[in-house]
Parts: sequence; C-alpha cells; structure tokens
Amino acid sequence: MKGRLALLLTVALLAVAGWWWQDRPVRPRVTTRLLMGTLVEISTWGVTEPVSRRAVGLAFDEMARIEDRMSRMRPDSELARINQAQRGELQPISAELAQVVARGLEMGRLSSGAFDIGLAPLSDLWGFSLEPPPTRPPPPERIADWLAQRARQNGNGIALGGTAENKIRLENAGVGLDLGGIAKGYAVEQAVGILRREGVHDALINAGGDMRILGSKGGKPWHVGLRDPRDPQGVAAILDLLGEVALSTSGDYERYFMADGVRHHHILDPKTGQSARAGLISVSVQAPDAMTADGLSTALFVLGEQAGLEMLRHFPGCEALLIRADGGHFQTPGFIGRWVKGP
Ligand code: ADP
Ligand code: MG
Repeated sequence: MKGRLALLLTVALLAVAGWWWQDRPVRPRVTTRLLMGTLVEISTWGVTEPVSRRAVGLAFDEMARIEDRMSRMRPDSELARINQAQRGELQPISAELAQVVARGLEMGRLSSGAFDIGLAPLSDLWGFSLEPPPTRPPPPERIADWLAQRARQNGNGIALGGTAENKIRLENAGVGLDLGGIAKGYAVEQAVGILRREGVHDALINAGGDMRILGSKGGKPWHVGLRDPRDPQGVAAILDLLGEVALSTSGDYERYFMADGVRHHHILDPKTGQSARAGLISVSVQAPDAMTADGLSTALFVLGEQAGLEMLRHFPGCEALLIRADGGHFQTPGFIGRWVKGP
C-alpha cells in the first residue's frame, strides 16, 4: 500500500515537472533549408516550438525572396534582367537591389577594385557556379579579352543612381553584376530582422560560411568552430560568440579544382582574371552585421594580408583571422576566436 502511494506520488511529481519544463527548451531547435547554393541552418533558443517554427519559416522565405531577386544564376531574377539588358543604357533597378549594389561599390572603392561586383562575365568564363563544376581553366585568350574590355571602362563600368535615381547603367560587355560575394550576407542580415520581429532574440544562422549570432544560447555564448582549410574534418579555431555579431569565412577550399598542380577557386582577382593568390587560403571576418562580414572576407582574401588589414581599418568593429598559404595565421587583437590548430 505504502509502495503504491509512493509510486503515485512520483508519477504526479513527474507530471508536474513535465508540465513545468514543456516550454523550456534544453537544446536549440535546429532547422535547415537549401538556399543560395548552400545548406542554411537556423538554430533558435528560448522560444516555444510554434514561435520558433513560424519565425524560422518566415526567415527562410525572406532569404528565398532575396535569392530570387539577386541570383546571377536565375534567368528571371532582377539581377539577371539587368545583366541581359543593352549595355550603355539606363535600366530600372529596385531600391533594395540598388542598396546592395551601392554597398558592393563602396567595398570596391575601399579595396581599390579588388572587390568587384562587376566581374560577372569573368565568373561566367570560369563557371564555378555551374553544375557540374569546371575541371579546366578557361582559354587564356578569353581572359585576355575580358581584361582588355575592362581596361577600356570608366572605373568599374557601373553607374548607379546619381541624377538618374533607381537606374543603373552597365558600360560595356566586360561588366555584369555578380553579388555572390555580398548577397548571402545581406540575406542573412534580413533573416535576422525577421527573427527578431517574430520574437526570437537568441539564434544562430549559418549559411555555409556566413554566420550571424543573435543573443545567447540560454545565457551562454554560441560555440562555433572554424574549419581547417586543408583538413575537412579539422578545426582551426573556436569562437564563443555572444550578442550581435556576424562571422564570415572566404576560402579557396569550398569551390575549386586542381589542374596541372594549380589550385583554381571561385574567388577571382579582377586584376589578373585568375583565382586570387595573394598568399591567403582562408579569411574570417567578424563584424557587427553579416553583409559587412561577407563582403570584407571576400575583399581581404583578394587583397592579401598587408593591403587587407589596411582596408579593415576603414571598418570600425571589424576584426579578422587570416590563414596563410604556409599554414601560419594572424588575427587582429579584437578577434574573438581562439586558435586551436597548433603553432
Ligand atoms: P562563398 O560564396 O563561397 O561564401 P565568398 O563570399 O567569398 O564565398 O564569395 C565568393 C563569390 O563572390 C564568388 O562565387 C563570386 O560570385 C563572387 N566573387 C568572386 N571574386 C570576387 C571579387 N573579386 N569581388 C567580388 N565578388 C567576387
Ligand atoms: Mg563574401
């Protein structure tokens, strides 16, 4: 009899505890969706399942909307329409796309042209966004033609706004818009805005190299690892991120092929028409927002260590971790990560 009572009491206690804990998550809720050519993962913490589900769904939808507008590979995107239009003529452009283009142009100026959102024709020549991915470099004379066309342009060949608001003009066939180095960051930042609006204040978005943190993981930092660029299973650095921070990594190991012992990858140097080879194999940038982090990691990769760190000085609150071709690394004093790979 006594045993029965104890059992009943235990069951009742468990029921109460279960009710008490039901809305208190013990681990993040993680959802993934294939977007922008990568697996995007959103983790939320501290909200009920229905709130998380709704917020994350809307955040993904927002990223899909931006991809529909800004993807170079979608023939019906607004960006593709501008790229297909007659060169030398003013074309209409939405305020949203113009805003991202303006940011890209600013990054271009501050990097002395190393970051170049007008290199779509060169990206087309290399074809890194195609399926299947390329296995040979394009013929050298095609690259030479492109470089010659660019040399004839006024600056980078993109004229935006000014006296013609909401208009854009691409100068000649050597220029076309490629926002691949910055649009993912913009999409992630917009997704963060949606999460917050929907009541999620603690989250982590990881869009294949572009990360953005919001708040904490139950009062503790979000713990993330940076890949070792030459070992898919290895970790080079770990970071404990808290609050409002973005982290973007650009490397030569995501989309690349080897030909005659040379590594060709998807970050291109507009000065040579070849894959960027400025001595770095991975660049991670920590910034207050994801678009800045995304653009800067690509720009610094192309610029290399010295010029890259000079560019970084124009961006308050931004820090970087650079991994050199010889495996060595450098991190700016404010970079949050801890190097774990050895010397
Ligand atoms: P990922 O897209 O793999 O995260 P990045 O953010 O570094 O990598 O961007 C690489 C993409 O940026 C390329 O696929 C291409 O679309 C574009 N790109 C390549 N070279 C440059 C460059 N010099 N300036 C601006 N964008 C570039
Ligand atoms: Mg980038």
